[in-house]
Amino acid sequence: MNLISRPFEITSIFRKEILAMSAYKVADAQGLIKLDAMENPYNWPEDLKLAWLATLKDCPINRYPDPTAQELSQTIKRTYQIDDQFDVMLGNGSDEIIQLLLMALPNTASVMAPAPGFVMYKQLSDCLGLNYLSIPLRADDFDLDLPTMLETIRLYQPSVIFLAYPNNPTGNLFSHSAILEIINLAKGLVVIDEAYAPFADASFIDSLPAHDNLLVMRTVSKLGLAGLRLGYIIGRPAIIEQLNKIRLPYNINSLTQLSANFALCNYAIFDFQTNKICRERSRIFNQLNTLTGIIAYPSSANFILFKTSTDQANRIFLAIKEQGVLIKDMSSQGGLLADCLRVTIGKPVENDAFITALKNCL
Ligand SMILES: *Cc1c(COP(=O)(O)O)cnc(C)c1O
Repeated sequence: MNLISRPFEITSIFRKEILAMSAYKVADAQGLIKLDAMENPYNWPEDLKLAWLATLKDCPINRYPDPTAQELSQTIKRTYQIDDQFDVMLGNGSDEIIQLLLMALPNTASVMAPAPGFVMYKQLSDCLGLNYLSIPLRADDFDLDLPTMLETIRLYQPSVIFLAYPNNPTGNLFSHSAILEIINLAKGLVVIDEAYAPFADASFIDSLPAHDNLLVMRTVSKLGLAGLRLGYIIGRPAIIEQLNKIRLPYNINSLTQLSANFALCNYAIFDFQTNKICRERSRIFNQLNTLTGIIAYPSSANFILFKTSTDQANRIFLAIKEQGVLIKDMSSQGGLLADCLRVTIGKPVENDAFITALKNCL
């Protein structure tokens, strides 16, 4: 065989930002109780599944999907009582919406978000070579460091500010008045990421009319439809119009459009499931705080962040996994997350298995 050797350098092909990144890793959960990814642990009752399958039966999968997902968009607006003066754009998960928004910015733009926060804000900003401004939360209560955020806005005028409400991975709701001060000072867009709205009694949707730079982003993933990949962003038509220009025309497939529409039209199932999850959240929070060496932080989401004794987090994470329960080790991120683990609220038996496994290794 005559192999021709050519000088070929991967590093000369790809942008330096890409070469410096590492891919988002998802742990293998096979055979484990899965309490690592903020999924709703409940599926649907049989009769609801059959009704859902009946709606899929005549789906024209030989055709391209509706590029504007008219029916699903209307159902979302109706379900969450979104005023007609606002537009809704759908994404393949809210992750895709974050990506679209950042892709639309000039490459000199700054993006600001608190830390610790949702990893995709930074991952996608870095990938696009944007200037990512990470502002540490207050150490005592994980609330926004408002003076530093306001100062950073004055200095850098970020094009986009992301605020997850409730925040991932800390689980708390930031101060409402602090968020309003940020929205009022910012000349760029402020995205309130309400991925955990189903578990929190709070939203900025009602604040949309008063602030022309405000966007509210949501997802059906944590609600109980993570497999569909559907997120949406609500805002003024003038802003949504720009994002729609770079959205791929068929980003929401036909099966997702039909299934999400069906699910939202049967919303009672989610109210039932999320109420159960919230009750379990209080039970597990209380149990964690009775354990010596563990501090659980209050959560308005479907997970709980908790602190272990110094330098024990990774050992405890592995010991819990050894007993068949997968949670998330946050400790390697350091900073405010040093010694911290995060557990998603599952079914009562799963949560009990987690508590038992944890007790066994303290
Ligand atoms: C999970 C999560 C998302 C991503 O949701 P998808 O719609 O599944 O892409 C966005 N923001 C926050 C804060 C999250 O925790």
